[in-house]
Parts: sequence; C-alpha cells; structure tokens
Amino acid sequence: MNRKIISSHYSRRQFIHDMSLNAGMAALAMNGVHLYSSCNSSVSDQNKTSAMAQNSKKKPGIALVGLGGYAGGQLAPALQQTENCYLAGIVTGTPSKIETWKSRYNIPDKNIYNYENFDNIKDNADIDIVYVVLPNSMHAEYVIRAARAGKHVICEKPMAITVEDCDKMIAACKEAGKMLSIGYRLHFEPYNLEMARLGQKKVYGNIKKMNAGFGFTIGDPTQWRLKKYLAGGGPLMDLGIYCIQGCCYTTGMEPIAVRAQEGMKTDMEKFKEVEQSLSWQFEFPDGIVAEGKTSYADSMNILRAEAEKGWFEVNPAYNYSGQKGATSDGPMDFPKVNQQAKQMDDFADAVMNNRPTPVPGEMGRRDVKYLQAIYKAMRTGERVEIK
Ligand code: NAD
Repeated sequence: MNRKIISSHYSRRQFIHDMSLNAGMAALAMNGVHLYSSCNSSVSDQNKTSAMAQNSKKKPGIALVGLGGYAGGQLAPALQQTENCYLAGIVTGTPSKIETWKSRYNIPDKNIYNYENFDNIKDNADIDIVYVVLPNSMHAEYVIRAARAGKHVICEKPMAITVEDCDKMIAACKEAGKMLSIGYRLHFEPYNLEMARLGQKKVYGNIKKMNAGFGFTIGDPTQWRLKKYLAGGGPLMDLGIYCIQGCCYTTGMEPIAVRAQEGMKTDMEKFKEVEQSLSWQFEFPDGIVAEGKTSYADSMNILRAEAEKGWFEVNPAYNYSGQKGATSDGPMDFPKVNQQAKQMDDFADAVMNNRPTPVPGEMGRRDVKYLQAIYKAMRTGERVEIK
C-alpha cells in the first residue's frame, strides 16, 4: 500500500493538496502549482503573516481558550508531543483551574488570561497562535478577538453556528493578515487519509455509494451540547460534521443537494431543544449518493465507500485513536499517530513557512453551509440544493 503520498482534491473547485505522512505535514503544491481553492484564503492573503514567521522562525507558542474536556484531555497533552509549537498560555473563565494548569504545564502568570482581559494578549510576544476550544456559538467572538489581537487562530469544529459568523471570522483574519485553521484532526490521521487516497485516486474505480455514521449516547442533560443557543443544533453539529467531512474527502467532491429526516425523540427532556438523531442523503456529482446518520442516543462510527471494483471503510473512523480500516482486498495497517499533535504541528509549520493550511477557515465555512442545508432539508422535508 502506498502510504507515502496521500492526496485530496475537491473536484468542483479544485481544492487539492498532498500530504506526506512520513513527513507528517502537508506538502504544498502538486507539480509546482498551488491548487488551493475556495476552501482557502488566497495564498497571498495568508502570506501576509507575522514578522515572527518571516524573521525569527521561533517555535510558535499556542494559547488555549476554554479549558474544558477537549483542551484538557487532548490538546494540552498533545502539545507535550508537538515539535513545531508548544503550550505557551491559557485563557479561562474559571480561576480554580489556573493552579493545576500552571503547575502541570509550567505556564507563567503573564501568559494566563481570562475572557475580560483576553484582548491584552496582543502585547504578549510568547503567544503566536490562539486555539479557540469553547462551545460552538462562542467561536466567532473569540476568533475575531484573537485576529484583532494580531494572532493566528485555530478554531474548533464546527467553525460557527451560522455561515454569516464564518464570513465575519474569515474577514477578521484576512484583515489582520493572520491565518485561520479549523481543528479537523482527521486530515492528519492515516486511515482517514487512506480513504481520501483510495477514493480520489479511484483505486477501486468510481465511487457509487457512501455511508457515514457517527453517534454516541450523551450523558449530562444540562450540558451545552444540548442547548441550541450554544451548540447551534444537536448531534449533527457535533458528530455529523465528521461524516460530512469524510464523504467530501473520500469522494473529493462537494455535495449538490440534500434530503434529511429527523429521527424519533425517545427522551423529550434531554432533547427538548435539539434533534436526538438525524439522517440525511447527499447527492454528489456523478450520481454518487452519500447516506449520513448521526445520533446522541445510538453508537456508530463508520465511514464506508462502495465503488465499481470494491469497497473500503474505516470503522471506528472518527475517534482520537484506534481506527480500524479494511478494503475488499483486506485490512489496512497504518501506524498510530497523535492526531492533535500532527494537526497543531502542521499549522505551526504553515505559520512559520508562510504556506496555507490544508484545513482553512473556508473549509469550516463550507461545512457550516452543509450543516445549514441539512437542517433546512429536515425542517422542510424538501430536497435542498446546495450552491
Ligand atoms: P467542554 O464542555 O468540555 O468545555 C467547554 C469549555 O468552555 C469549558 O472550559 C467551559 O468552562 C467553557 N465555557 C465558557 N463559556 C461557557 C458557556 N457559556 N457554557 C459552557 N461552557 C463554557 O466542551 P469540549 O468538549 O471541550 O468542546 C469545546 C469545543 O471543542 C466545541 O466546539 C467542540 O465541538 C470541540 N471539540 C472538538 C473535538 C475534536 O475532536 N476536534 C472534540 C471535542 C470537542
């Protein structure tokens, strides 16, 4: 199996990038041509990067904003393994967390902020990149503030809860001459990259059908993920977005229309504001149908493609580790990686070397557009065209 080069392209708009798994980062051009598309700010926009990148090439420092489960459980530990960047600061609204983070990660007082004094981060030369890990509807405000403070930004998925917010975030970063990336860690995970390679290189011929499902049983009924104003929706916003991503990078295409159906609610208390489960059917070009399913009350974790000459799948597909993959020719076998470390190292490298990120804000915006199309199809019961 050729593990060395994995490529992905968005055929409609020609988003193409190569990834070298061995090097663990995105190679930037194919045949000497930059082929980034609508899913990327123009290279020249992104290249108006900081003096830091152009002059000193010091290892970028990252500040995490929001010290919840993902920041504490995944990102901070991953930042102990990164080679191109390090955990330089934190931004938290919970003072009781500070001591533990300070001592565990050796963070100096001058690099600790709260949500009120966050904008002062502009004067802090230790911090080059701000990583926003807050509830979904708060992403826009903190990305915009970070850009205005002169920092490059990584924003967690989903990028925002409306396309309008995504536009403002992209505009703020452009205006500041800063790069914006989305926390799409699976673009750095070998089994998912192999799905992209097999699909886009048509190793098994043209894809006919895709299936993608991600769900788990959600616990605490009071959490923000179940509140519409913070989450923007239910499992589609949180989990279904991985299925959308998977279908796009496996086919290398963008969907043109969608139908969707909300599933039955069996817990009216937990799911009074958001859907409990949702199914949708994307139409891709060339007659490809992609069936998606997401749920906060069921377990599933699959990305599967059926093509003219065989099939390929990853199951489980979306976890932080433990991916298992197979094709109609037998099992896949790739090394374990720390997805978050690779993702952050790649962004730090992009910042340092003035090159675009393979997971830019424009891709986050595109996916929020799909999320909104799915919800519209669900509400109206109609086929919604995606433009
Ligand atoms: P979490 O609930 O564990 O943490 C949220 C953090 O935001 C907490 O520190 C909390 O104190 C803070 N916060 C500030 N204002 C808040 C408010 N009004 N309500 C609730 N919390 C508030 O959530 P999480 O799992 O860390 O998710 C944070 C973001 O990261 C989300 O956008 C989520 O989609 C994303 N995420 C991504 C991945 C991934 O694999 N890429 C995994 C998990 C979460």
